[in-house]
Amino acid sequence: MADIRLEGVGHSYDGGRTWALKPMTWTWQSSRAYALLGPSGCGKTTLLNIISGLITPTVGRIFFDDRDVTDVPTAGRNIAQVFQFPVLYEEMSVYDNLAFPLRNRKYPAKDVDERVRQVARLLGLEDVLRRRSRRLDPGRQQIVSLGRGLVRSQVAAVLLDEPLTVVDPALKWTLRSKLKEIHRDTGHTLIYVTHDQTEALTFADEVVVVNDGAIVQAGEPAELFLSPAHEFVGHFIGSPGMNMLPAEIADGVVRVGESDVGLAEGDLPPGPVRIGVRPEFVLINGDRRSPGVAARVTGIDRMGAYDLVHTLVGEHTVTAKTEAGSPYTPESTEFLHFPADRTFLFRDQVRCGSL
Ligand code: ATP
Repeated sequence: MADIRLEGVGHSYDGGRTWALKPMTWTWQSSRAYALLGPSGCGKTTLLNIISGLITPTVGRIFFDDRDVTDVPTAGRNIAQVFQFPVLYEEMSVYDNLAFPLRNRKYPAKDVDERVRQVARLLGLEDVLRRRSRRLDPGRQQIVSLGRGLVRSQVAAVLLDEPLTVVDPALKWTLRSKLKEIHRDTGHTLIYVTHDQTEALTFADEVVVVNDGAIVQAGEPAELFLSPAHEFVGHFIGSPGMNMLPAEIADGVVRVGESDVGLAEGDLPPGPVRIGVRPEFVLINGDRRSPGVAARVTGIDRMGAYDLVHTLVGEHTVTAKTEAGSPYTPESTEFLHFPADRTFLFRDQVRCGSL
């Protein structure tokens, strides 16, 4: 296993007119489980294919530890890759499919058998080991593909590109925890591409958020949730995402319309900012020390475990997540408070301070 280092790596599919991946420098540390999270088209697959060698980057160099692999083809990189759809030898048994990557690298027969059975047990494939792969449903076939990706213990990295798309939703949770178990056991470096925040947050040691061809923030799930460094992370992570409101800094005080909402922390020049606060932290009528920001309730979603109270501050929507059974009614005016340690200030989408 090796650290995988990208130095100034970027890729353009159209001769440099646009960049699917903007030049970046970044290290994937050995043995960590990463999720690469971002919306469709942001460059996740391009990045993964650059690591595996399916794509040669337009600019930059890639290193596995100190070895420059930029010009090394996929076969020479010792990478396992799992795609969105099953890639199997359909006429072979499940057992032989799982054994293939090991036999191909001349593992002793005893080790092959041991490892195949171990992976089959973890992924719930024991009862179909003798079956031809084409006779399994696509979801099961994909689990076999996953097994093939994970069966070798000595790989530089396992790259997983939306591997659970065709798997039954009920099975996804189980498979994700199995993946974590296998990761604990093998210490593989895993890079798991997904556009689904739940998948990313429940799976990874570290989530790398990509937007528009660039890494906007990387961190542990809690860090991304509690301390987003970029508006995109605020929107994209959380359900619903972070509320954003235009505000103004004057004499060190942050104002929304006519209301003071707190002091600006950080050395910030006066002028417009956007304040961001997650629905979980918006307080309704919660602070007697300040009048708060007047908001008109527009609707309440009763979600069972909690309520989502939707309001308008001027013409901007602010949603609060409250306990179930909240007493607010549409058209009433309530007062919102934004807690100092949970409210951030953004300029040009980048966090520049807090309340
Ligand atoms: P998805 O989740 O939809 O696969 P992604 O985040 O993996 O998206 P990429 O597939 O890496 O994103 O695509 C990044 C950008 O590059 C997109 O704008 C896409 O249209 C473009 N692109 C990807 N592959 C090619 C290609 N072979 N030729 C031209 N443009 C491409």
